[in-house]
Amino acid sequence: MIRHECGYEEPAYCRKCGRPLEYDPRRGIYCPHCGRQVTMLCPQCGKRW
Ligand SMILES: [Zn+2]
Ligand SMILES: [Zn+2]
Repeated sequence: MIRHECGYEEPAYCRKCGRPLEYDPRRGIYCPHCGRQVTMLCPQCGKRW
């Protein structure tokens, strides 16, 4: 489960290895297993996640 700064939460998984993604305000969304970075917009507030 990753949580955006606006409070929206969503379960997100790495498309490459299937592990749960993590969110860090500095790095953005990333996979702690394979290191893949994911860029997406928050569906609730529309800002970059
Ligand atoms: Zn991964
Ligand atoms: Zn948001």
